[in-house]
Order: sequence, then C-alpha cells, then structure tokens
Amino acid sequence: MPVFSSKALYAVSHLISRRMGSEEAEAHEVADHLMRANLAGHDSHGVGMLPAYVRLFVEGLLVVNQTPETVLDFGALLVLDARRGYGQRMAANAVRRAIERARETGACVLALRNSSHIGRIGTYAELAAAQGMAFTAFVNVADHHDIQAPYACADARLGTNPFCTAVPGTDGGVAMMLDMATTTIAAGKARVAYNKGVPAPDGALIDADGNPTTDPAGLIRDHTGALVSFGKHKGSGLAIMAEIMATAIAGGQRADAEQKGGILNSMLAVVIDTARLGGVETVAREAAATRAHIKSARVAPGFAEILLPGDPERRYTAERLRAGIEVDETTCSDIRPAAA
Ligand code: NAD
Repeated sequence: MPVFSSKALYAVSHLISRRMGSEEAEAHEVADHLMRANLAGHDSHGVGMLPAYVRLFVEGLLVVNQTPETVLDFGALLVLDARRGYGQRMAANAVRRAIERARETGACVLALRNSSHIGRIGTYAELAAAQGMAFTAFVNVADHHDIQAPYACADARLGTNPFCTAVPGTDGGVAMMLDMATTTIAAGKARVAYNKGVPAPDGALIDADGNPTTDPAGLIRDHTGALVSFGKHKGSGLAIMAEIMATAIAGGQRADAEQKGGILNSMLAVVIDTARLGGVETVAREAAATRAHIKSARVAPGFAEILLPGDPERRYTAERLRAGIEVDETTCSDIRPAAA
C-alpha cells in the first residue's frame, strides 16, 4: 500500500481546497483536520473524504468561504447557522467563539446548524481542551440517505450521529476523550473496508433484508442495508438523542427532511471553563486517578491490555508520525480525478 508523510497528505488536501476556491485560512483548517484524522487512525475522516467534498462542491451542496449566520447570541447561548459552509472551518470557528464565551460566562451552549461535513468531532474537543475547556457534543447527519438502523429496525432511519466528550489535560491536550459514531463502526470505515476489499467487522452491518452481513458492498456501492447502532438499545438510544439534541434543541435539519444528497452536520455542544471548577490541574489529576483505578484491574481473558478512550488515537499518532500513513490504492485513485 502507498505510504505518505502527514505533510504530503496536508499538501494534497490544501491544494484541492485552494482549487475549490477556499481562502488560505479555510484550506489550512480543512487540510490540517484531514491530516490529523489520518494521524489519529481515523482514515474514515481523513483525505479519503476529499472526493466527496469535491462532489458536494460541484453540486452546490458545500459552500466555500461561507459566513455563518448568527441566529442567537444571548448570554451562554450561541446559535449559528453554517448554511452548508465547509464544515471543518465552520465548526472550528464556532467552537472558538464558544470558548471565548465560556471564558466570560463559565460555560457556553453552542448550536451549530447545517454545516457541511464537520469530520472528526474530537478535533473540536482538542481545540477546547487546549484552552482548558471540557467539551461535550451531540451531532446528527442529514441531507444524506439514512445509514444507521436503530435497535430492532430492519431499515436505516438515522445517520451515524457521533457523540464526543473530553476533559483537558495539563499539557494542552486532552486528559481523556471519547469520540465515536453511534454505529458499531463509522460509515467511512465501511468505505475503507470496501476500498481495501476486506470484510467489515462482525455485527456492524445488516443487508437489505435486515440480516447480519460483513459485506460492505451493499451499503457503499448499492446504498442498501445499514450500519447497526452500537450497544443494542443503549447505543441506539444515544443515537436517537443525538438526533434530537442536534435538531429539536439546536435547530439543525432532521434526518427525515428532504434530502439533496449532501452531508449536513448539526451539533449541540457544551463548552465548560474548568478554570471556574477547580482548574485544569484538578481535572487532570481526577482523570488520572480514574485512569489508574481502571488500569489496576486484571486484564480480561482474550485481551492484551486495558486501554482507555483516546489511547488508540494517541498511539496511532505517534506511530504514523514515525512510519507514515498508508492510503489504499482505491482511495488514491479516487482522489486523483477529484484533484483533477
Ligand atoms: P472508534 O470506534 O475507532 O473509537 C471510538 C472511541 O473508542 C474513541 O474514543 C477511542 O479512543 C475509543 N476506543 C477505541 N478502541 C478502544 C479500546 N480498545 N479500548 C478503549 N477505548 C477504545 O471510532 P468511530 O466510532 O469509528 O468514529 C471515528 C470518527 O468518526 C470519530 O472521530 C467521530 O467523531 C467521527 N464521526 C463523524 C461523523 C460526522 O458526521 N461528522 C459521523 C460519525 C463519526
């Protein structure tokens, strides 16, 4: 498989975004985000998204250099409509505004509506953590055919509706971060499996009749079947609440609204200034104590070790900075025409 440095992945994303018409700051934000997603091991949200972004742009479903509309700016409440703006920039700038507000008021409830795909949600938790803020977000996906089958459904009825929550560490990073799709695997991971010609993990997919399958072709090539919610009724319930928080509360587009074939994310995020709650040192110490307590357990049979949320991403980043990032042939050959 071809191996690239993170700098090379940044360069191709930056160039494509610039040619799409993004101004320098936006091209940088998008390229940096995609490169970091690949570094963190989330190839589903890295440079493999570029062909989709070019398609969305060509179809008028992703708007470069967009200015979000401020719908409400009232105390701790900040409501922005991104109007299909380039998601990585819309979300990063919205979270930066929320961080500033949280510094004044102690916390900010941010509603970001109708942004084009905002990518890896952990990126925004990391932005908040770098400023000593805790971060929690519920996100939905609309304008796209449904791909998540909630518990007991034989049909897809939601997007992959991610949930993310993180607390800051003393090193400017996160002390602990959970960042996940509410499906067993993110949709992009089914795409990566399809592109590599390997089966999806057991228990992640159903076919057109609602039966379990490991073949990602139905979902990715034929748009049939679905990804299933993780954790039975509990993960499914979290996905449903993410839909409701991002729509009924944040005002974003619902999954059942008319679909134009775009990828619209809406996010309800809460940013909390830990300086008002004992400070980053206290938060990091408490998180470290919880980590140590959990790691003191015996390792269960069949497992090599105990990992905590955020550990795999940290390891991937260290390893990929050292050895480079593999990008499969299909993804490379999809990026070439998009770049052209
Ligand atoms: P994942 O399953 O790889 O990881 C989910 C979480 O579990 C992470 O916090 C990770 O640190 C933790 N984890 C993984 N393995 C672990 C282990 N062995 N022990 C303990 N903890 C472990 O992630 P995913 O669900 O495939 O999501 C990938 C990315 O997709 C996320 O960054 C998410 O924000 C993003 N996403 C975005 C959208 C969107 O529409 N923008 C939709 C869905 C997902």
